[in-house]
Amino acid sequence: MNMESSTARDQHELLQIRGLKKWFPVKKGIVKRKKGYVKAVDGIDLDIYKGETLGLVGESGCGKTTFSRMLLRLIDPTDGEIILDGQNMLSIRGKELHKMRKEIQMIFQDPYSSLNPKLRVSSIIAEPLVIHKYGSKAEIRKKVAETMEDVGLRADQARRYPHEFSGGQRQRIMIAKALILDPDIILCDEPVSALDVSIRSQILNLLKDIQRERELTYLFVSHDLSVIEYMCDRIAVMYLGRIVELSTRDELYKNPSHPYTQALLSGIPVPDPTAKSKRIILTGDVPSPVNPPSGCHFRTRCGAAQSVCAERVPESTDIGGGHLVKCHLFGEFADQLRDAAAKSKEEGGMANA
Ligand code: SF4
Repeated sequence: MNMESSTARDQHELLQIRGLKKWFPVKKGIVKRKKGYVKAVDGIDLDIYKGETLGLVGESGCGKTTFSRMLLRLIDPTDGEIILDGQNMLSIRGKELHKMRKEIQMIFQDPYSSLNPKLRVSSIIAEPLVIHKYGSKAEIRKKVAETMEDVGLRADQARRYPHEFSGGQRQRIMIAKALILDPDIILCDEPVSALDVSIRSQILNLLKDIQRERELTYLFVSHDLSVIEYMCDRIAVMYLGRIVELSTRDELYKNPSHPYTQALLSGIPVPDPTAKSKRIILTGDVPSPVNPPSGCHFRTRCGAAQSVCAERVPESTDIGGGHLVKCHLFGEFADQLRDAAAKSKEEGGMANA
């Protein structure tokens, strides 16, 4: 099953996210009066299909981690819905939630600090089984041994401690721990960024093999566009708490349409020393999520911004084949923006004449 066929063949929405928001209150003064909100995630709508890898890309601080934590129910959203296989995860509590948690697991970025150095690897990998009362000690031992072998570790290494393993092996331990409950979906949070370049491809290929064998679904969070391109079927681009573009991988890399995506992709190195750099350098700093720009959050750094960009939040526009873009260059105000761009080009030309 290759990546494209998996998306095309199996369009069952495993995870549906609707209007998801997380606003953290900002409090000041002795009486801790509410002074505003950090809008870490500001209204996300997204479907993740069974068997696909959906990439989530954006600069640090754009809300990727807060978004992942809400999916794991580590933090509660301010608003919105998370529907896993038809069931709203936000309306369940207690035993039901405990059971549901098995279906979403996470592989963390740093395999060095995520593993308890005092525990043997067998105990680390078995922990989710113990929490979910999987079975007898012998059954747990058997499951741990099988899962270790699935991720390329030997079962006889189970009694060792984390410091006896290399970085790549430690990430395999983390993967085994994420797999042990046979989840439906795994959130991979920058799973290779802390590893040596030489072993990154081994871990990425392992994740692909496991996905094929177990028909797993991945949400793959990264700022590394080469890794995203290698791993993902579809890609969502995030800026200041909102998804600004969503498309299949091939379409996005061929036809990036949101000015932010264009700037991000222009920074990918080209393996040709004679090729002219077309890098788009973004001006200005990333605005604070405490007081993000009105309308389009990207407008303070966008070369195509016009007054409407400050006044109206761009709607999501399908520019063909499910390629969604949130920008006024498309949709209702497209003509207005293009006329303004043509006029300013003309005025520039007259000034130069
Ligand atoms: Fe730029 Fe306006 Fe599009 Fe935002 S909506 S990306 S400011 S053109």
